[in-house]
Amino acid sequence: MNFLPIFLDIKQRSCLVVGGGEVASRKVALLLQAGASVTVVALDLGTTLSSLHKEGRIQYLARGFSDDDLNGRYLVIAATNDADLNQRVAALANERTVLVNVVDNLVVDRPELCSFIVPSIIDRTPVVAAISTGGASPVLARLIRARLETSIPASYGKLAELAASFRERVKKHFSHPPDRRIFWEKVLQGSIAEMVFSGKQADARDALEKALNEESNLPNEMGEVYLVGGGPGDPDLLTFRALRLMQQADVVVYDRLVSPAVVELTRRDARRIYVGKERDNHALPQENINKLLVELAKEGKRVLRLKGGDPFIFGRGGEEIDTLAEEKIPFQVVPGITAASGCAAYAGIPLTHRDFAQSCVFVTGHLRNGDVNLNWDTLIRTDQTIVFYMGLRGLTLICEGLVERGLSGTTPAALIQQGTTPKQRVFIGTLQTLPEIVSHAEIKPPTLLIVGGVVTLHEKLNWFSQGD
Ligand code: SAH
Repeated sequence: MNFLPIFLDIKQRSCLVVGGGEVASRKVALLLQAGASVTVVALDLGTTLSSLHKEGRIQYLARGFSDDDLNGRYLVIAATNDADLNQRVAALANERTVLVNVVDNLVVDRPELCSFIVPSIIDRTPVVAAISTGGASPVLARLIRARLETSIPASYGKLAELAASFRERVKKHFSHPPDRRIFWEKVLQGSIAEMVFSGKQADARDALEKALNEESNLPNEMGEVYLVGGGPGDPDLLTFRALRLMQQADVVVYDRLVSPAVVELTRRDARRIYVGKERDNHALPQENINKLLVELAKEGKRVLRLKGGDPFIFGRGGEEIDTLAEEKIPFQVVPGITAASGCAAYAGIPLTHRDFAQSCVFVTGHLRNGDVNLNWDTLIRTDQTIVFYMGLRGLTLICEGLVERGLSGTTPAALIQQGTTPKQRVFIGTLQTLPEIVSHAEIKPPTLLIVGGVVTLHEKLNWFSQGD
């Protein structure tokens, strides 16, 4: 992180803006919005600042900048069109540890001269979101801002005000903090929030009042479990629901297969429990994981059981919720992008294609007692794509087995390592050649094997750049 995002309280504080043009006026406007006491020093003022001065909203020193202008200032913004002067102001301010921002005449921060930079802002006061690229690309920050602007309802500020006005009462009502959080989550994303968004403030207030008085609306003691698919690796492939639940869980129970970038997106203060699941090296046996989920939920926790890919595809998700169902613990299941979809898409290998495959099967290539137990007959078809999960160790056996039972040795086959991540690598060959190709490479798990004519499309359709 190049800059620490913080929110400064500059109300009544003495802030200096050097420069009187349009660029300066935008910064002045921002400072005034945050309640600062603003002084502008400049030889002359542009129209915007002139009118602010006439309205008495800023102090104006009609002269060139002098070093003493920094005396007693909380922060200073250099916004002249004289680069040397801007630099001098920055150097002086840094010497005196006055916060300083330098902005050029395109209203772009000059991070190398700044002790703070001004982010793109989404203002739903009291809710404020700030986006910064650390000066790398202000346009990118603006684009992100545009997206957030469209996804955060305009009346979020009103919702926050409503919440603020009930905060103390809710605090008294629920002495147990987790209960309080659950209550607020229901309020802030349920029908009450919708009332605020549609301008029915009074109704929202009544409904909140009622929710607070009705015992039936109190959060129950029992926690719940969210069985969530974390996808194959790229965090962009998470569903909205997954992300929302990841943000509200108290405890996260996750596997080795879940990419660190995805785990990072879980709530910061949530407890994280790693339960391993490496091949032949389970950090926790499955029964213990099942039990752990039950115990945590019975403690009243909202438990996020985060799994790689999709929880219902070779994920033993069924077993985990089976135990929950028996114990009558509420749960929900959120699908994820399974490795087959993720790897196929990122390797440019469509799993079905009119010319090559009318069906696609997902099978496990996991070795049991040194052998792959497969229903080979269903696999020996030329118009079908076969995706093998957990197939690396049995790769040679699988390829030989398919050829022995009737598939051509020239059938295309691909092994995809760490699909959808920056470390993705794709090895292309045939049933005959792939084991040999792979044996020369240093393969890192997880890997997925795709067999069938569709693999030939990779050459043309590959779009995702591979790692080293
Ligand atoms: N529930 C998971 C699969 C769990 S089984 C899902 O739906 O994807 C574990 C196997 O999934 C691995 O052995 C590997 O074959 C495959 N796999 C998972 N993520 C992968 C990735 N990013 N790249 C390649 N293969 C992956």
